Parts: sequence; structure tokens; C-alpha cells
Amino acid sequence: MRKSRIAAVAAMAAAAALTLSACGGGGGDSADKVKIGIKFDQPGVGYKDGDKYTGFDVDVAKYVAKELGYAEDKIEFISTPSANRETSLQNKQVDMIFASYSITDKRKESVAFAGPYLIAGQDLLVPVDSAITGPEDLNGKTLCSVTGSTSAQKIKDTYAKEVRLQEQSGYAECLGGMTGGTIDAVTTDDIILAGLAAQPANAGKFKVVGKPFSEERYGVGLNKESTKCADINKAINKMIDSGEWEKAVKANTEGTGYTPNPAVNPPKTDACA
Ligand code: GLU
Repeated sequence: MRKSRIAAVAAMAAAAALTLSACGGGGGDSADKVKIGIKFDQPGVGYKDGDKYTGFDVDVAKYVAKELGYAEDKIEFISTPSANRETSLQNKQVDMIFASYSITDKRKESVAFAGPYLIAGQDLLVPVDSAITGPEDLNGKTLCSVTGSTSAQKIKDTYAKEVRLQEQSGYAECLGGMTGGTIDAVTTDDIILAGLAAQPANAGKFKVVGKPFSEERYGVGLNKESTKCADINKAINKMIDSGEWEKAVKANTEGTGYTPNPAVNPPKTDACA
């Protein structure tokens, strides 16, 4: 009698434990997923190709997510255009952003960053027959960039008096304008411009000037409350040390003419705040 009572209690405890763990597992439906913000329109960097996501940012995101315990099928990629990145993080629509997202003091007022994982540079894309060889040639010209980017801001701050800046929501609009002849040059980071110029549809149409005039330190955007910065930096350093970083750079920029500036790449990660 006594024995069976003990057995019954044990069985109940076991059942309770099962229920608890089932709850844990069941409740993890969304908790075991990670929402990652990327660009959908930057070939070689962050790109949605049918139902596939490709580019260097995507490869770094997948590597970091795996190190944090998220297999590829646990990642939900979400589009975060330049102008929406801070709000997407603040509203927790995404957990992390890998979207050619430069670390800046201004952005640090509203979001946090891990990284950097790449140092790119602002450059110009112009029609193949253009005489423009640098930003100093932009006087009286129409220049296109994307709203919410450091590129548009830098032009406003440094060249706004002489250049007509046209801000668009994406790069396709800028390139369309250049094909149509209403835009003389497009400005953003060299790695993005190289990827756009190398698209089959743009073959032979444009050239990257190739004289970068800023340092764009690509960070992993986080909500200020995130506690993941140190683990993300650890993952980035592992990706660099293992040779996977180099492989990802090659795989995503092969044939575009882009190579990361070896004086500053692969970068050293910053200390976490
Ligand atoms: N890296 C720059 C930035 O974060 C330009 C590219 C972009 O907007 O994604 O603003």
C-alpha cells in the first residue's frame, strides 16, 4: 500500500514534469525563432531572390544565429530598409539587424550595435561614359541616394550646396533614374554599388568610381535592452578566425570588382557597451 502510494506520487511528479517541459517546448514556438532584419534589394549584400535570401549580410547573420543556437530554419528574415532600421529595433519587430548598417554615434542614441563585421566605404556609381571621377565633380549634378542612409546625410553635410540630392526609398529607383538620364550618379557604400553594377540586367551600363570617401563600419543592430552583444562579437570573431568570413566575402563579391580594404578588414569588433 505504502509502496504503491509512493509510486503514484512519483508517477504524478513525472507527469507534472512532462507537462512542464511540454509547456516550455510549446511556448517556444515563437521564442525559439529569431527575427533578423536584412535588405531585400542589395545583391551580394542582402537580397531576396524568390524565396531565397543571399548576400554577405545574410551569410554573417546565418553564422551568428547558428552560434547563438538558432538553426537556419529558425530564422525569419524581415526587410529593413535604411529609413526603418532604428524603429524596427525599438518596436522589437526584429531581434537583430544585418543590413549594411553603419555604426554611428547618432544611431547609438536609439539602438545598440555589436560588431563591426565589415568596413566598407562610401563611393559613387555613374554611367560607364560619365566624366565624374569623385564627389568634387558633382557640382550642379543630380545625385541619388536612399533615405535614412549615412550616404545621403554625408552628401547633405558636405556637398549639399553644389549638388542636387534626390532621396529615394531603394536603389532600384536610383538606378532607374540613371538609366533614364535624370540622375547623374548614385551614392552609397562600395560593396553595395559593386553588387548593383554586376547584376546581369545592368551589365555594361554603370561603373563604380572606386575612390571611397568614408569609413562605413557595418554593425549588428540591436535593441538597447539586448544582452546579446558579447555573444555576437564572439561569433563574428570565430567566423573571421575560422576563414568563413573570407569565404563569405569571396562568394558574395566574386566578379563584382569589390574587395574589402585590407588596411581595415577583417575588422576588430568594438567593446560592448
Ligand atoms: N552603410 C550606410 C548606412 O548605414 C549606407 C547603406 C545603407 O543605408 O544601408 O546608412
